[in-house]
Amino acid sequence: MKKTIFLAAAIAFGASMNAGAANWFAPQDPFPLYGNSYYVGTGGISAVLITSPAGHILIDGGPTGASDQIAEHVRRLGFKVEDIRYILNGHEHFDHAGGIAALQKLSGATVLGSAPSVAVLRSGLADKRDPQYPNLEAMTPAANTRSVRNGEVVKLGPLAVTAHFTPGHTMGATSWTWQSSEGGRTMNMVYGDSLTAVVADGRSFSRNPLYPNARADIERSIAAVEALDCDVLVSSHPEASGLWEKKSKQATLGNAAFVDPEGCRKYAAKARAMLAKTLAAEAAEAAKAAEAPSAYLLDDTEVRDVHARALNRDYQVFIALPESYRSSDRRYPVLFVTDAAYGFPVTRSIAQRLAKHAGLEEAIVVGLSYAKGDSAVFSRRRDYTPSVPRTQAYVSDMPGRAVAFGEAETYGGFIADDVFPLIASHYRADMRRKIFVGHSYGSLLGLQLLLSRPETFEHYILGSPSLWFDRGVMFDREKTYAKRHEDMPASVFFGIGGRETLAAGKTRSRKEEDADMVADLREFDAALKAHRYRGLATQLEVFADEDHASVFPLVLTHGLRAYLKQAR
Ligand SMILES: [Zn+2]
Repeated sequence: MKKTIFLAAAIAFGASMNAGAANWFAPQDPFPLYGNSYYVGTGGISAVLITSPAGHILIDGGPTGASDQIAEHVRRLGFKVEDIRYILNGHEHFDHAGGIAALQKLSGATVLGSAPSVAVLRSGLADKRDPQYPNLEAMTPAANTRSVRNGEVVKLGPLAVTAHFTPGHTMGATSWTWQSSEGGRTMNMVYGDSLTAVVADGRSFSRNPLYPNARADIERSIAAVEALDCDVLVSSHPEASGLWEKKSKQATLGNAAFVDPEGCRKYAAKARAMLAKTLAAEAAEAAKAAEAPSAYLLDDTEVRDVHARALNRDYQVFIALPESYRSSDRRYPVLFVTDAAYGFPVTRSIAQRLAKHAGLEEAIVVGLSYAKGDSAVFSRRRDYTPSVPRTQAYVSDMPGRAVAFGEAETYGGFIADDVFPLIASHYRADMRRKIFVGHSYGSLLGLQLLLSRPETFEHYILGSPSLWFDRGVMFDREKTYAKRHEDMPASVFFGIGGRETLAAGKTRSRKEEDADMVADLREFDAALKAHRYRGLATQLEVFADEDHASVFPLVLTHGLRAYLKQAR
């Protein structure tokens, strides 16, 4: 586990900034940097000790598990870990902060960092907004933490260390500056935190919605580090500021080997080059993504989930708003369309076109989807049919599920009890002008509503109803209705294709394959008319040369002309 994390993290943290990133736990003897400042980190991760007779300040705690190495380095230099009063954090990644909790415990020091850094140190949990999340390992939560302000000076006896927020690599990244003197010369010391634009796979540095300012932050931070008074720079990854090359000259030059007034500018230039590389790669990626084809979306449409309480099933409704909807405050008649997969886009287009070019009143279109998880055939057989067929046997098209029929009455209740309130409460719908639109089985559903609760809709547009279904069960239901009712408050537009007649050479019956759907429809309409229901008006149109598959747009067009007003 440790090894895997080390390898992954070494790639993420070190290798990207500097070839030959060292092992985070590589042994390294502690050594003086300048005056009262010492390097106490490992061979791969920096930690700096600033000493004074009033106590010491330690910057960073190395990776989780390196705290013993660091404590031992402090002791070998002749200092006491217990004299460390403050532990400052560069940034809240586990390779720099993982050892802080243990070092805090050993020393009793106060842990200081920026607010985002301290939040992570205190919880031990990585920040989800971090560019390198989720590659970040959890840390032992640190006790006795306090956040500092940007520019705050941490004082301890003669020591004064200034916090410079340099976010971008993380939100909490902080660089620290102070002065150290020896032999009468005073140097501006800089602990330069990571300025690398590194992201976890699958994340974008420049387009991270959780940290949208990452790019702006790092650009500002690079400029800030570039402008620091900088004589001796130690970067949080030591090799990133050439510490080992400088160290190799320490034997001959003394601590002057670490003095390089150009150090911060070089460090910034390196970070800027890496940022440019990251941004170029991300821009190329984005350009590639932009070339990929996208789905076509219908303007002014919405999709809403709706649970059918009585059926205990989930459906969706698709809503198309008329063109003038957003710029007006009026209410619109509503078309409720079954078989929405086909019916919704067709009805939306035809209704809009008739409004725009034929002066017909605009309407809201509501598409009724099939049940979630069901095939179209399975869902419509069950939801749109009024009964279980007595003679004909059907095969289920859904593996492991028995074919179902005959739930139209309950489904009609779902429309009235669940869909109507949803539409009425979310849209400026004129619920006194609801138009049902169905075709084939969808029209069977319409007829079931007409013969059980006709007032559900004010108007019904019914194309090619499957009146042959269950040996003509709807004819029986109409007779039953007639025995009990004298009124039927609705208007019905029947439409059918002229070719939906009996196939040549067949004898007419009320079976699907021997049906004369045109004749059936004329008979049904005649039966309704013969009963002279109060409040009922029907009309029937046969569209010559159209068949069951082609006739719907015409039925719809003529039905809408019948029930929508001429607006101009
Ligand atoms: Zn880092």
